[in-house]
Amino acid sequence: MEKSNAKKILEELYNGINVKIDSHEGALSQDNLLDLMRTMIDNISSLDFELPNSLENLKKTLDDAFKDLAQESIIQYDNTNKKFEELASKQKQTIIECKNPLIDINEITDKFNVIQNHMLDEVHKANSMIADLTHKVEKLEKTSQLDHLTKVYNRKVLSEHLAAICKHLNFTKDIHLFMIDIDDFKVINDTYGHVVGDKVLIFLANILRKTLRDGDKVYRYGGEEFIVVLNRIKKDECLKVANRIVSLMRTNKLIYKELNINVTVSLGATTLVDGDTPDTFVARADKALYTAKQSGKNKAIMDDTDGN
Ligand code: GH3
Ligand code: MG
Ligand code: MG
Repeated sequence: MEKSNAKKILEELYNGINVKIDSHEGALSQDNLLDLMRTMIDNISSLDFELPNSLENLKKTLDDAFKDLAQESIIQYDNTNKKFEELASKQKQTIIECKNPLIDINEITDKFNVIQNHMLDEVHKANSMIADLTHKVEKLEKTSQLDHLTKVYNRKVLSEHLAAICKHLNFTKDIHLFMIDIDDFKVINDTYGHVVGDKVLIFLANILRKTLRDGDKVYRYGGEEFIVVLNRIKKDECLKVANRIVSLMRTNKLIYKELNINVTVSLGATTLVDGDTPDTFVARADKALYTAKQSGKNKAIMDDTDGN
């Protein structure tokens, strides 16, 4: 068969299929497509001729026909999809229209979202402020030298000062240390309450500050225990100062909210000696204080160490 004849036949077949697709109402289903292809194959097989040289052409023509069919299906599928979208959008609109007159859910949700975002913002701000403040407090605590209640030096500073003193023992002379402890402080707390107990601590700290010279330093060692470090003072003079402190506490009353509170203290004193470390220095004063307590309290005891 002539090439041109074969082409003609196939063109007719192809056109025939297209006409059938065009005449088809609505989308082509898979079954419709199969039907068309089956018809086309039937037609080809009914042709009574050999196609040795035109096989490629035939194949190509068939491929194109299939392509067109596929294309058509895609277009149909696209259209259906668009219709679905239109429908979905219509449904959405209907739902919105139904809801709006009732309770304005969308408006409320929007407002909640705004509030929520605002709150989150505030939480973020607060968190960063807290982190900043925590950092500042930590820094202040590290650099702070004073006991927050009595405003005398705290124990951390005492350790530093004693370490410095003991490191330069050769250059330091006539240094004395008092350890002072309030007598029966637990009874004061139990009788008047902790607020009054705190006032008593402040009262003692003030008396110490007023009694001592400028170079002398006062530290809060622990609960109701204070340490005083005195510079350039002879032992006998030092004992006088110690006794004055005890005496001032005994004779002065703390007046607080119409209460007259009697407070006494016991005091242990010692002198710095060669080879002292902060621990040995403090331990001797503590021992003298223990003796003062054991011998009736409300007194000052100076140990018999001789200074350098
Ligand atoms: P002593 O005469 O033997 O020293 O007896 P004391 O009662 O003074 O000593 P004790 O060690 O039995 O009690 C000390 C009390 O000090 C117990 C504790 O609750 C109180 N205390 C410690 N620190 C503070 C403080 O900062 N404020 C107040 N109000 N009380 C404190
Ligand atoms: Mg004590
Ligand atoms: Mg005490």
